[in-house]
Amino acid sequence: MPSTRTHAPRGALVFDMRQLGRQAGSALTQTRIVPAPDDLRLELIGVPVGSDVALEVRFEAVSEGVLATGTVIAPLAGECARCLAPLSSSVTAGFQELYLYADGRHDKHDKHDKHDKHDKHDEQEEQDAEELYYLDGDLLDLEPVFRDAVVLALPMSPLCQEDCPGLCAECGAPLADAGPGHRHEAAADPRWAALKQLNDTENNHQDRRAGAIDLQEG
Ligand SMILES: [Zn+2]
Ligand SMILES: [Zn+2]
Repeated sequence: MPSTRTHAPRGALVFDMRQLGRQAGSALTQTRIVPAPDDLRLELIGVPVGSDVALEVRFEAVSEGVLATGTVIAPLAGECARCLAPLSSSVTAGFQELYLYADGRHDKHDKHDKHDKHDKHDEQEEQDAEELYYLDGDLLDLEPVFRDAVVLALPMSPLCQEDCPGLCAECGAPLADAGPGHRHEAAADPRWAALKQLNDTENNHQDRRAGAIDLQEG
């Protein structure tokens, strides 16, 4: 069966750095509309897969790599954390990440092979290296940085409106629709009062009958 997961076409978040060059200080700004990859979501809200996400990135050549600084504006769809009504909004996320030239990485591996006594230090360095980003030749894959930035910016408790009153604790009706007069005061309605009286009377009768049975048995 074909997968139903939609992936952004490979390359939508890959940028070619040939135009930037390696001259420290040179800079390049690019804007793109990219289709949202999947899994950009938290429990209640997320970026609809394939929706248009606006991206602006400034690439700046520095001595050890390329500094990517950018802004993402993505549409959001989800539900209100208080009243569960569907809602749509948007999120703006910023990021700044250094992508290292990959040739520097090979130098480190050579050192590691040659100097055994530095093993422990180099292991630590390699652990740190897992969180570093590298250029792949002239290509810079922005997806992991883009993904982290958007997910971090998603609201944990999205609200349909800032002062959403939520749901009625007694009947579950959305209070925003029910209006400010929504109440559950039984005494306010004479029909409820009459019914309550009837119930009380019946309970009394039952009590007396139960008492009578007790007497007979005793
Ligand atoms: Zn709400
Ligand atoms: Zn209610």
